[in-house]
Amino acid sequence: MTWATRCLLAMSGVFSLFAANAEAGPLQAGAASIDVTPPAEWLPIAVNGGFTAKFVDTITDPLHAKAIVLSDGATTIVLCTVDSCVIDRALMDEAKAIAEKETGVPTSHMLVSATHTHSAPAVTGAHGTDADERYREFLIGKLAEAITTAHSKLAPAEAGYAVGECTQWVHNRRWLMKPGTALTVPFTGRGENTAQMNPGHQNPNMIRQSGPSDPTVTLLAIRDIEHRPIAVYANYSTHYAGAPNISADYFGVFGEEMQRLTGGTTDFVGIMSNGTSGDANCIDFSQPARKFTHTQVGRDVAGEAFKAYETIEFSNDIPIASAETTLTLDVRLPNEEEVRQAKEFLEKEVGDRLPKSVPESYARETVLLSEMPPTRELKLQAFRIGELGIATLPTETYGITGLTIKQDSPFKPTLVVGLANGWDGYLPTPEQHPLGGYTTWRCRASCLEIEAEPKIRAALAGLLKQVAE
Ligand SMILES: [Zn+2]
Repeated sequence: MTWATRCLLAMSGVFSLFAANAEAGPLQAGAASIDVTPPAEWLPIAVNGGFTAKFVDTITDPLHAKAIVLSDGATTIVLCTVDSCVIDRALMDEAKAIAEKETGVPTSHMLVSATHTHSAPAVTGAHGTDADERYREFLIGKLAEAITTAHSKLAPAEAGYAVGECTQWVHNRRWLMKPGTALTVPFTGRGENTAQMNPGHQNPNMIRQSGPSDPTVTLLAIRDIEHRPIAVYANYSTHYAGAPNISADYFGVFGEEMQRLTGGTTDFVGIMSNGTSGDANCIDFSQPARKFTHTQVGRDVAGEAFKAYETIEFSNDIPIASAETTLTLDVRLPNEEEVRQAKEFLEKEVGDRLPKSVPESYARETVLLSEMPPTRELKLQAFRIGELGIATLPTETYGITGLTIKQDSPFKPTLVVGLANGWDGYLPTPEQHPLGGYTTWRCRASCLEIEAEPKIRAALAGLLKQVAE
């Protein structure tokens, strides 16, 4: 079979290229959505996603933990997202362990990721915001409930996939700047920067974007045996759109819109997972500023996804496979002198209060990192759903990394889920590190060793190969 024929078959959603597991039978699926909006009496509540702490007391739209369970009779997997900015591995592992006890599905078959809405309660400390411990405990139970409820709904189903494109809302936000003009902040581990995130519209000091971004919207669609749409699992690579607190941002709008467009059942579950958006957002800085809302972004992305949805050929012959591994990486720790200077600055300027500025936040991060272990264990996964491949990584990943994983994958298409099964911060490539800029600045949100990206890609290539066999 030529590469072109293989691609054509893959794009039309015909599941035939890989041998099915001998014990596998027709597809079964179940989906559930559990409300995880914080109770009104817990407001105001800490929200992370900014450099400094923010406490909010309004709810714009509800947050959800959404899960899809798929089984071919031999292998059962879970695809789950939570409307949260970042979720550490300990929280996810605890929820998965509860769900495993209830369902018998091994935790290694469970993909759980944060959507990366910047308008949800903080469950993991990041920059100047600490976790809300009460909400954290609440979320563990709700997350497990989403998985067990989806599992309890397993019933005969059919599935298919498609790839669309929405170029409008994905732009690389990291720009190379004229010498001496990129933003530089103390306590970040970088004295001079060449790259700058969000440099402002048509800034005369911008040279070019520092890399590509991935405009594809990939979706897996599931229907019951009467052909009624019950769920969609989609993936797109924009950071978030921005919404008034508390909100599921465009991820929530996408789900509702897919239900409307597909004519889904009343308990339809529409999931938008975050792809490789570490260096991408909705804003094209080469153009004058334009106003937009998370509603508009959600509707536009769903519109493009639905065009692709209409080309799907559904089948109940969907072989499923999953693989998981861990990878231990070094952490970029500050040296003794950097820690001493940060402590001195904090004692003099900040005291016991939370940071109020970007330098204060990075000084605090320097001290916090110095107290953390010098290595990190990352959880990585790969899934095969028919001929769709899924690779997951616990990082905020650059577009180039996602595109390379897709190119090297035996599955066409492959979707790459970021912020999955933990949170280990930004993942610049070794080539991007020396350029500096926000996503390389040393903190809990960017602390992996400089060679982390190729090591993670190599491990994922091995996992994808494993599930293709
Ligand atoms: Zn973010």
